[in-house]
Amino acid sequence: TNPVLSVDQLKTYFYLDQKKVAKAVDGVSFSVSPGETVALVGESGSGKSITALSIMQLIEKPGRIVEGTITLDDKEITRIPTKQMTKLRGNEIAMVFQEPMTALNPVFTVGNQITEMLRKHRSMEKKQAQIEAINLLRTVGISRAEEVIHEYPHQLSGGMRQRVMIAIAISCNPKLLIADEPTTALDVTIQAQILDLMVEMKEKFNMALLLITHDLGIVSEYADRVMVMYGGQIVEEASTKELLRTTKHPYTRGLLESLPNLTEDVDRLGTIKGTVPPAYDLPTGCRFYARCPFAMEKCKQSNPDLIEIDHNHFVRCYLYEKEDVQNDTSYTSP
Ligand code: SF4
Ligand code: MG
Repeated sequence: TNPVLSVDQLKTYFYLDQKKVAKAVDGVSFSVSPGETVALVGESGSGKSITALSIMQLIEKPGRIVEGTITLDDKEITRIPTKQMTKLRGNEIAMVFQEPMTALNPVFTVGNQITEMLRKHRSMEKKQAQIEAINLLRTVGISRAEEVIHEYPHQLSGGMRQRVMIAIAISCNPKLLIADEPTTALDVTIQAQILDLMVEMKEKFNMALLLITHDLGIVSEYADRVMVMYGGQIVEEASTKELLRTTKHPYTRGLLESLPNLTEDVDRLGTIKGTVPPAYDLPTGCRFYARCPFAMEKCKQSNPDLIEIDHNHFVRCYLYEKEDVQNDTSYTSP
């Protein structure tokens, strides 16, 4: 099957002032297929949310997409007019955010917000939309749907609000669901329920799910494939199984080692010291240089390419560069 979403060499920069350019997303490529859950993982400031907002065409000045393409179902959407994009958002791509309180309108009931979607995007009559809204709330596991429909967002718990957001997201049968830290604000038990629900919905409606998170624990349980982002670039990409079994990039290793239960029998380095370099002041060399326990002289000089070191396993790190194939372009990932 063709991918639902293809992102190719995406660059989203913010022009802060004449001299300062924040390269928030700096040459990111990936694709997501129907039925697949792909995770974009990294610390805050790594560029994952800006990647999502770029796909949604929600980048505001002084930011803009300076290079690359975004393709949704064989249709390039990188520079389509705002009006068309507004139609696509909701209809074909839906997004669930960390804090549903800000995405839901506090002055309208849950029912109003869902029926508005259905009337606008699916041209339903009022009565029909109300019936469908109740169905949708039941689909996302809200058993007292008839009551919840008359309630306001603030009357609901965080978990219930996120269920409502998911109901709104799936109301138009989107092909792609983007979830940006959807459970970060929730406690652990509710987190699992919401993630289970999203995966269930993904399967039921054959959507593609792009899951953005800082939590490799969540990735290990829910994602089929992982892309690790650092300094606006992908530094490692592999199937979740492969990534957990043969973690390559020092940054990914650091992220894994800071998880208590996954690495009990591994020498612990503790959490990674230092912070993500600011996007307006990236080093010339490897962007992880300042924090890397394996840094070498050449890492300071230039930024390594993302190369395929094993079938569908990509790494951006000089530790895995093979001298003898350095000039063989077929070895370098696109
Ligand atoms: Fe560390 Fe060098 Fe690899 Fe960067 S390229 S992650 S500094 S070893
Ligand atoms: Mg974010």
